[in-house]
Amino acid sequence: MPDYYTADIMEMDTLNNNLFMCDIRSCRRCPLFNDRTCACPGWFSNLPLDILFVGMSPGRDEDEVGRPFVGKAGRKLMELADRVKLVTDETTLGFTNIVRCHTPENRLPTGHEIQACSTWMRCEFDMTEAKVVLLLGGVAISLAFPGKKIGEVAGSARAIGSTVYIASYHPAAVLHKRSPVIEASILHSLRLAKEILHAVH
Ligand code: URA
Repeated sequence: MPDYYTADIMEMDTLNNNLFMCDIRSCRRCPLFNDRTCACPGWFSNLPLDILFVGMSPGRDEDEVGRPFVGKAGRKLMELADRVKLVTDETTLGFTNIVRCHTPENRLPTGHEIQACSTWMRCEFDMTEAKVVLLLGGVAISLAFPGKKIGEVAGSARAIGSTVYIASYHPAAVLHKRSPVIEASILHSLRLAKEILHAVH
């Protein structure tokens, strides 16, 4: 397996099991297509997934290679996941975002952009049948914890159907705020994900 962070776009695309990859790359459902270099469809290893990480929107690094979580936040996420030994060689995992195109200056996506991209979210959820979905940050948590603030629910889990959704701070918050408290909270969410995966396997 090539290195997820540095492999070129073609190499990693051939290993992506996202059936909607081409449709998402050519999507024009909202104005974000005007400013993107490359849309970032969810990237999925073998399906069904044990764990799916959901962020807000691709950053600049992701926009260049059309693949979610290849930048600093993605590396931080995997560093923390390694610390709790969440991922083994057998774990099937994926990464996606609430909106699949970079937003100018990393601004929050608008309601219209989120709504337009929710079609792809439904397709990706149905396709991946993830056992655990880690919702990273305030925008992503609203998928399963509507109306809640991240501080109220970080570290909580909620089952919807056969999937367990876990609310977590976003790894970018650790990088920006250098907060050990936020880092500890993310580690707690990742440990919870590991416990739930063990329980359902
Ligand atoms: N932050 C996100 O929320 N998603 C990415 O893909 C990268 C950084």
